[in-house]
Amino acid sequence: MEKQIVLNTFLKETGGHIAAQLEACTRCGMCAEACHFYQATGNPEFSPVWKIELLKRAYEQRFTLAGKIRLAVGLAKPISEEEISHFSKIVYEACTMCNKCSMVCPMGIQLGPLIHEVRQGLSNAGVVPAELLAAVNQQVEEGSPLGVTDAVYKSRLEWVADEWEVALPQDVKGADTLVVFSSIELMKFPENIAAIAKILHAAGEKWTLSSQAREVVNFGFYEGNPERTIMFLKRIFDGAGDLGVRKIVVTECGHAYDALRWTSYNLMAVPQGIEITHIVGLVGDYVRTGRITLKKGAHNDGRITFHDACKIQRRGGHIKEPREILNVLAPDSFAEMSPSREQAICCGGGGGVIAIKDADSNRYAAFELKVDQLRRVGAKTVVMSCSNCRLQFTDCVQHFNLDIKVAGLCQMVADALEK
Ligand code: SF4
Ligand code: SF4
Repeated sequence: MEKQIVLNTFLKETGGHIAAQLEACTRCGMCAEACHFYQATGNPEFSPVWKIELLKRAYEQRFTLAGKIRLAVGLAKPISEEEISHFSKIVYEACTMCNKCSMVCPMGIQLGPLIHEVRQGLSNAGVVPAELLAAVNQQVEEGSPLGVTDAVYKSRLEWVADEWEVALPQDVKGADTLVVFSSIELMKFPENIAAIAKILHAAGEKWTLSSQAREVVNFGFYEGNPERTIMFLKRIFDGAGDLGVRKIVVTECGHAYDALRWTSYNLMAVPQGIEITHIVGLVGDYVRTGRITLKKGAHNDGRITFHDACKIQRRGGHIKEPREILNVLAPDSFAEMSPSREQAICCGGGGGVIAIKDADSNRYAAFELKVDQLRRVGAKTVVMSCSNCRLQFTDCVQHFNLDIKVAGLCQMVADALEK
């Protein structure tokens, strides 16, 4: 039964553009070298091209003469229920949807989106890791995968406003900008909320939070479930529409930014006339245009490096802004990891991986590549603009007993505000 649903999804989704990509692969292996899970473990099943094997076989066996003949004479196997369960472990537990493989493929095959198609088939059949599915269901029922209900949201914001003595405007009609935090910030890094509020106030931004659009994380997107992805996106767009804002700012969350900024346009009618941007882009503009000024050298104490988040820097293109900011904050101590920018190595915790207990060994193995990078650059502090990465770094710094401070970029900016 599961098998049939997965196959039906693959066959329904396999239009010309996917078929052309499946046909184009030359088996050169370059994508494998780009994948941190493959690099870290050497497991051939973690090579990106293998992660789309089910999709490829379903396509070949249904639509190509060679595939049909191979199947008929026993040279190829039909897809089995066991393989479907096995591939669920591979595409959810050993892929962060970082999209580096797509970037290196010489044939232009968009492996990341194709792996997302595999997740979609598995999601339709309900073959999704239990913890990930539980988080999705919690977001459906309570509005948040981390339990940020209406009451929790309200009390968290009241506490942040008191603790850090910062105003957090809510449901302000006529504001220019809606700011939407992730539940990771709300529950794990509340100081980020205060930091971002301080920056926005310093810049004179007319901004608001929304009690309706209170959570930007999108676990439907991790799952590969279009209906639930749309449901969570709609909450944000409806909140923005009700308040009449002109801009939505996604705070320090990479996958949420991808879902809202690009994926939304492929799934639904996105309201027109609303700009969607990431807080790093906004803060970069503030610094560049003098809307905020920062204390030069405020963080010049010990080697500091920047971790590029796959969805914010590689995909989102916000590569210059963190460098411009860090060259003000830490002109003498900032140094790049290698590789960095769009070539950066993923932290290993995105794409829902950090939510799945069985994926811990993959996640820690992948992070060893980061440990090596951090050691080579001699980092005392590593800074980033994604709270999911920050969660992974915070956990892994403990796991590997590293003497390295993990920081959010907005936090550093807020601490160095001069006006
Ligand atoms: S890099 Fe592209 S062409 Fe080469 S094996 Fe991977 S998917 Fe195929
Ligand atoms: S998207 Fe990233 S994690 Fe997934 S297969 Fe490609 S390189 Fe590996």
